[in-house]
Amino acid sequence: MSFFQQIVEAFLIKLLGGTLRKYQRITKKILAQLPKYQKMSDDELKAQTDVFRQQLAAGVDLMALMVPAYAVVVEADTRVLGMTPYDTQILGAVAMQYGNVAEMRTGEGKTLMATMPMYLNGLSGPGNFLITANEYLANRDARQMGRVYSWLGLTIMAGTSENGEDDDDRDKSAIYAADVVYTTNSALGFDYLIDNLAATQADKYIQPFHFALLDEIDAVLLDMAQMPLIISGAPRVQSNLYQMSDDAIQLLTEDEDFERSEDTKKVWFTPQGIDFLAHFFAVSKLLDKTESDLYRHLVLALKAHYLYTRNRDYVVEDGEVSLLDVTNGRKLPGMKLESGLHQAIEAKEHVKITPETRAMASITYQNLFRMFPHLCGMTGTAKTDAEEFRETYNLDVVVIPTHKPMIRTDKPDKLFVTTEEKVYASLDIVQAAHKKRQPVLLETGSVSMSNLYSRVLLQAGIPHNLLNARSAAKEAQIVAEAGQPGAITVATSMAGRGTDIRLGKGVDEVGGLLVLGTERMNSERVDNQLRGRAGRQGHPGKSVFYVSLEDRILVEHAPKWVARYRRKAARKEKDSDTPRVLHKRRFRYLLHKTQMSAQNQERSGRFQTLQFDEVFRVQRESIYNTRNRIMQMDADDLDQIIEELLTTAVDAYVAKRSEHNADEVADFVINHIDYGFAIHRLIAEREVTYSHSALRQYLEKLVITQFKLQHKQVPSPTQFAYFERLALLKSLDNAWIEQVDSLQQLKGIVTDRSRGQRDPIYEYQKEARRSFRTMRADFALRAMTLLLLSQLQINPKDGTVEVVYP
Ligand code: ADP
Ligand code: MG
Repeated sequence: MSFFQQIVEAFLIKLLGGTLRKYQRITKKILAQLPKYQKMSDDELKAQTDVFRQQLAAGVDLMALMVPAYAVVVEADTRVLGMTPYDTQILGAVAMQYGNVAEMRTGEGKTLMATMPMYLNGLSGPGNFLITANEYLANRDARQMGRVYSWLGLTIMAGTSENGEDDDDRDKSAIYAADVVYTTNSALGFDYLIDNLAATQADKYIQPFHFALLDEIDAVLLDMAQMPLIISGAPRVQSNLYQMSDDAIQLLTEDEDFERSEDTKKVWFTPQGIDFLAHFFAVSKLLDKTESDLYRHLVLALKAHYLYTRNRDYVVEDGEVSLLDVTNGRKLPGMKLESGLHQAIEAKEHVKITPETRAMASITYQNLFRMFPHLCGMTGTAKTDAEEFRETYNLDVVVIPTHKPMIRTDKPDKLFVTTEEKVYASLDIVQAAHKKRQPVLLETGSVSMSNLYSRVLLQAGIPHNLLNARSAAKEAQIVAEAGQPGAITVATSMAGRGTDIRLGKGVDEVGGLLVLGTERMNSERVDNQLRGRAGRQGHPGKSVFYVSLEDRILVEHAPKWVARYRRKAARKEKDSDTPRVLHKRRFRYLLHKTQMSAQNQERSGRFQTLQFDEVFRVQRESIYNTRNRIMQMDADDLDQIIEELLTTAVDAYVAKRSEHNADEVADFVINHIDYGFAIHRLIAEREVTYSHSALRQYLEKLVITQFKLQHKQVPSPTQFAYFERLALLKSLDNAWIEQVDSLQQLKGIVTDRSRGQRDPIYEYQKEARRSFRTMRADFALRAMTLLLLSQLQINPKDGTVEVVYP
């Protein structure tokens, strides 16, 4: 760090310290107001909501209401839930209202803390969301905390369906009209995308976004940042290229035909590999534009084989490939990888290849939440990534002190040579804990490792619960029991996040919960999340990580000498059965350093996603704005924009070629403007070539005439406007869907190194802008076709318009 940076850093710390003091002062004011509300009757207290709402209507700023509104909630929480928020909870709530991330330890009561800002923002009407990590938590918290909002006269809804219910059964208009909504990031994201595919204003439910409070904010904004939500539609034509590419890839040799990056996150062909494949498929130039489809499939097959591992990244069950969330081993229902990769994995696993669907709409969580004018969050673990929160989301992390002092002990890591030694050493301490009936939470890095630990425990005759993600509700139930005397729980990382682990009787006396991590994850933050399971609310507890040189993080990210050391040590005969613990100096910082490098890589990956997504975000916003404008246009506006579009479509066609002969023109007319045979014949008979200006004049007149004819078919202006609106939306959506889909594919292609592009992001943005311009012409042409070639008829019985689309 340079001297200058140090000064800046010191200044920031001072500044933040200053803001914390400011929040503390406000907290004091809130506490000072409490007696006033404590004296009120229930009805008087409830009536405060109206008082606040009137003030808001009179132009008072929401922030100005924070002190009295928070005091009202503190009292309402007490009366309705029987829990009075602690000073620390009020402090955190204040920090969140100021748009910060409140870092508050697990078990300190973030759920209750959220009632304050949610109520305050709910006063301003719909558009306020509390985002939780899963549906189970959204429903649980909506039910429990919802009582307070309803009691105070706000409307509150859970935005997700309960387990097992169909998502489509949700009453979206009621959900999004509520003042406060408890939901998940994916439910909100998908609803947002669907809302922007709505055909009419009446089918739109989502109200303007106002405020979002993200529970476990690091899980949503960091861990899931790179997984885009994608709505898929009509399948594209199926190709057998998947199978052929899969076969070809198996003939290649690593480091000769292809190479992998050190972190094993990227893979690319070498020139030798390209030559071999070109020869194999008997094409002259594999990197030519003409072979791009084949090439795309080869890249996908290569990735499927060398970047994706069965039972770590995905599972194969009943002939189906399901993705796993690497951080917790949970299945990700409905999630698909980048277009085609899923199919490539299916080819690799020899299961039936599902139709490759078209991406119709897509958004990343990063961009979903950046749309909120007011964003804040809470979590037990944010400080380690404070810089990223600030840079990407303009959020500062404020650390809230614990209500009672924390007395958990965090032991240094124990490093073993092999996985086997690690597993047996882990078994020893589990056994020791079990003997004194101390509960143990043992966490693993993957589903397969948790199965392995479960088998080992079974052999040793230790009863335990194996948690591997059947459903969030079931998981929560098991995790909640993990603090009972003698309980042994084996879980994948992050399982049951958001569930409180209460300690059973006598557990304090034997040292509280023992958290045993069996692998370091790619970020310190995730490890802290695990440690945080123990020692909640001032209880004792202990955390330790047992790791080995064969752990994924070391294999993928450690410096080269570690691999050499590992190979040598593995060859060496072991003198005894005692697991070898490594504590030479060189190992002391190994894990820390390796983790830092893994962490940095993940971070830059997220920045890259954000950069990729930026141009896409701008385009999506512009399309969605256009959509909304179209929906709100009156008949005159519509006529005007349509005339402009018709001209655009004609101009684009005319500009395509330097000369047009009559046949071509006839073709164009019959496909997009008029089925009328008279015109067709007329043009076909005149065997002339048209100059640009003559053709433009002729076609522009023709389209306007045709449009007027269509107008005459439907005398009612509202009915015709309805037809116009639908035709425009349909054309815009279809043109946009093409763009979304091609950008999805483009991303896969530009990031591929064998193409030799220096700056994939620059290439992507350039191409994305270019295709957006063509998309406009495409939209105009589609609109023209629908508007002019649809057959419109009035039903004589009820006067409705019947439309037959071309
Ligand atoms: P976190 O989300 O911070 O991990 P939770 O919101 O799950 O913690 O709360 C942990 C437990 O603490 C819950 O059982 C909750 O009922 C209890 N709790 C929270 N705040 C209070 C309070 N002010 N008074 C009494 N109990 C509380
Ligand atoms: Mg919580």
